Amino acid sequence: MKTPIITSLALLISCSLSVSCFATDLAESTAENMPQLEALYTHLHQHPELSYQEQATSARMAKELSKLGFDVTEKVGGYGVVGLLKNGAGPVVMIRADMDALPITEQTGKPYASKVKVLNANNQEVGVMHGCGHDIHMTSLIGTAQQLVAQKDNWQGTLMMVAQPAEEVGGGAKAMLKQGLFSDFATPDYVLGLHVSASIPAGKVGITPGYALANVDSVDITVKGEGGHGAYPHLTKDPIVLASRIVLALQTITSRELSPLEPSVITVGSIHGGSKHNIISNEVKLQLTLRSYNPDVRLAQIAAIKRLTKGIAISAGLDEARYPEVYVHEDERIPSTYNDPELTNKVQASIRAEIGTDNVVQADAVMAGEDFGLYGLTAEKRPISLFWLGAVPPSEYQHSIETGASLPSLHSSQFAPDYPATIQTGVRAMSRSAIDLFNQ
Ligand SMILES: [Zn+2]
Ligand SMILES: [Zn+2]
Repeated sequence: MKTPIITSLALLISCSLSVSCFATDLAESTAENMPQLEALYTHLHQHPELSYQEQATSARMAKELSKLGFDVTEKVGGYGVVGLLKNGAGPVVMIRADMDALPITEQTGKPYASKVKVLNANNQEVGVMHGCGHDIHMTSLIGTAQQLVAQKDNWQGTLMMVAQPAEEVGGGAKAMLKQGLFSDFATPDYVLGLHVSASIPAGKVGITPGYALANVDSVDITVKGEGGHGAYPHLTKDPIVLASRIVLALQTITSRELSPLEPSVITVGSIHGGSKHNIISNEVKLQLTLRSYNPDVRLAQIAAIKRLTKGIAISAGLDEARYPEVYVHEDERIPSTYNDPELTNKVQASIRAEIGTDNVVQADAVMAGEDFGLYGLTAEKRPISLFWLGAVPPSEYQHSIETGASLPSLHSSQFAPDYPATIQTGVRAMSRSAIDLFNQ
């Protein structure tokens, strides 16, 4: 056994006097590992795999964690990987990175751009790209593991590294938890994560206490009618007219039924019906995305959609058999991510001490979704916190500020993070946060 308590105390005392006590160590030792981490990043970037297909990616993550001495288990909830490093008595800190890429053909023109193509479910060839920066997340996870292993004498507890599959389809966290992530491996005291930001420059970090990312629901509506000849509309019940009325009525849910203080988005992203100019069709299909933070708002959105669609069908004189069908894809639901304020404040203080107060910004909550939120919603109700890792090349960021030019968003074929600076900041911010949580 080492004497970590004395070491930790000494470090804590010196940290309170000088913010750079860990900073120097982590900055230097992370910089030393950068050639290796950059090689890992470009490898992952050039070998992206879609959700539920992360076979080679997960094998690589398992190999990297094994090399560092972690006790590694593969195939947890699909291609999930769990690496445990027990380092004496102390809290369990879980750090999560997601692994899946997107069906996007990369157009960054970078020499390391992905050229991978696969066949999708419809047998069409699609490009595959890490357009959401999950390759940065994985590389930062390995970089953090390296730092925590190198600094083993400076902390006590259990480090739980989780490489999660299928984030983009909202299935990975659910599957890993279902397969005993918290019960069979370790129940974390704290859960940390990071996500690249396409609007914060590399070298900076964004913090959002409280609700940070939204609840996401996918909803299908089938509007039924009675089809016929386009010249005899009086003999039909036109589902295109009904669907049009429904689309407009849906706009009143957020604006007239829900509190203006509660965020809510209801977007009809797809509408399909009919086949020809002069035929009134039998049905129209709508696809919606719903966003919210508060679970009660989500229930109110769904209830209002069911009530309004039914009411419009009744007003058109349709019988009950032809009321619209509203189908909520419960299996694809992603709950909102609530950054525990106390934990998030601690993480913010650690990151400020590591990379400088000026490099830590308050980031607005967004209506995008992340299945990271699920780790805080188990029966154990463990505090979770996810921070935004700036990824925009600083010169491009400056240019956009000066000219108003828009920056490529996440999920864009043009998204090209400044990966060396982003990874270095991610490793330092996450390592310092974890070490401080172990030592508090
Ligand atoms: Zn994404
Ligand atoms: Zn993502």
